[in-house]
Amino acid sequence: MAGYRELLQQVKSEIDEIAASEARERSDALFLDVREQDEWDEGTVPGAVHVPRGQLESRIEGLVPDRARELVVYCAGGSRSAFAAKSLADLGYENVVSLAGGFTDWKRNGFEVATPQTLSPEQRARYSRHLLIPEVGEGGQQKLLASRVLLIGAGGLGSPAALYLAAAGVGTLGIVDADVVDDSNLQRQIIHSTERIGEAKVLSAKRTIEALNPDVEVKAYEERLTSENVERILGEGWDAIVDGADNFPTRYLVNDASVWHDIPVVHGSIYRFEGQATVFKPREGPCYRCLFPQPPPPELAPSCAEGGVLGVLPGIVGSLQANETLKLLLGIGDTLQGRLLLIDALATSFDEVTVKRDPGCPVCGEHPTITDYIDYVEFCASATPRSAAAPAGRSPAPPPPDGAPGSRGTGA
Ligand SMILES: [Zn+2]
Repeated sequence: MAGYRELLQQVKSEIDEIAASEARERSDALFLDVREQDEWDEGTVPGAVHVPRGQLESRIEGLVPDRARELVVYCAGGSRSAFAAKSLADLGYENVVSLAGGFTDWKRNGFEVATPQTLSPEQRARYSRHLLIPEVGEGGQQKLLASRVLLIGAGGLGSPAALYLAAAGVGTLGIVDADVVDDSNLQRQIIHSTERIGEAKVLSAKRTIEALNPDVEVKAYEERLTSENVERILGEGWDAIVDGADNFPTRYLVNDASVWHDIPVVHGSIYRFEGQATVFKPREGPCYRCLFPQPPPPELAPSCAEGGVLGVLPGIVGSLQANETLKLLLGIGDTLQGRLLLIDALATSFDEVTVKRDPGCPVCGEHPTITDYIDYVEFCASATPRSAAAPAGRSPAPPPPDGAPGSRGTGA
C-alpha cells in the first residue's frame, strides 16, 4: 500500500502544476483557494474564490458550472491543491492546474496579496446575535462596520439612536451638536450623565459610545448646523442621516442638504406624549418639504413654555430611528419611506398615514424654487395638534421638532 508521499507523487504525476510566475500571467483563470478559513483570513491571491478542501467536491459545481473554465487551484504549499486538482479532473473539469509551492511561493515572489475583510474573534463574539440572523450575518455585519451615519443632535432622539447604532457596530458615527450637557437634559438624554454636566454634548456622547464599542469611530462636530458648515459636514460622505434636531431651521437645512447630497434622512420628532417617525429618501419618496413646504412664521409660534416631553418618548422614537437606519444600511425590510408613523404614548397606539412626494415641492419637485440654503430665524415650536401633521402636506405649519423649550442646540 502506498504511503502519503507515494500517493502525492502519484497524484502530481497525473495533474499539471505551474509556478507562481506563470500562474500570475493567467489573467483569465479563476484562482481557487482550497485552504482552511484561518489561512484564508491571513491573505489570498487577489480575486481568488475560497472553497475549503473538505467542501470542494460538494460545492464546486455550484461555484463553477462551466467545466471548461481555466482553474488555478492553490493551497499553502501545493499538496492539498494537487489532490484538489485531481478531484476536479475526475469531476470533469478540463482545464485545471495546481499552483506549485502554493500561496507560500506566491508571497515569496512578492506578488500581490489581498486580505479578505473578516470579523475578528472579538467581533464574532460581540456581534454573535447579528451573525445568527440570516438577514444580517457576517456580510451584513461587515456592511454595518463600513457604514457611516450622521446624527443631527446628541439629545433626546440622538441618545438612543446613537447608542443602538454604536452597539450594532455602525463603524462611523458623526454627531453634530453645539450644546453642553445641562441638568434638565438628563430626564431623557440617556447618552449623557450627571458627571458630564457642563461638558460638550458631542464629547460626552463620544466618550459613552467609545466605552460601549471600540469598533466605532465618532466624529464630533461641536457646532450648530448652518448654511455655512452644512456642505463641509455632509460633504464628508454619509450613508444615512438621523435627524434628531429640536428646531425648524436645522430641520429644513438638513432636508434641503440631504436632497442635494442624495442622502436618506431618518426623521423623528416628539412632543409631550406624541411622536412621529418616517424616512425621507431623496427622489424615491417625499422629503420634509413635500409635507411642510415652509416653516411657520416666528410670530405665529406660541409660547416656548408649552414645550415638554415624557422622558421615555424620545427613547421610543429614537430607537425606531435606529431601526430604520439599520434597515437602510443593510438593505433589508420595508422602511417608513412614504409612511408617517404616529405614536401616542398615552394611549400606546401606533398609527400611520401615507405621505407622498409632491411634484410641486420647492426642493425635490419638478420645478424647484429653492436651490440654495436658507437660514431661517429660530423660533420656538408651538403646540401644534397632531392632526396638523397633515399627510396631504396642506398643513400651514409642521409639528414641533421636539419638546425641548427654547433649546438652542440641535439635540432634542
Ligand atoms: Zn420634496
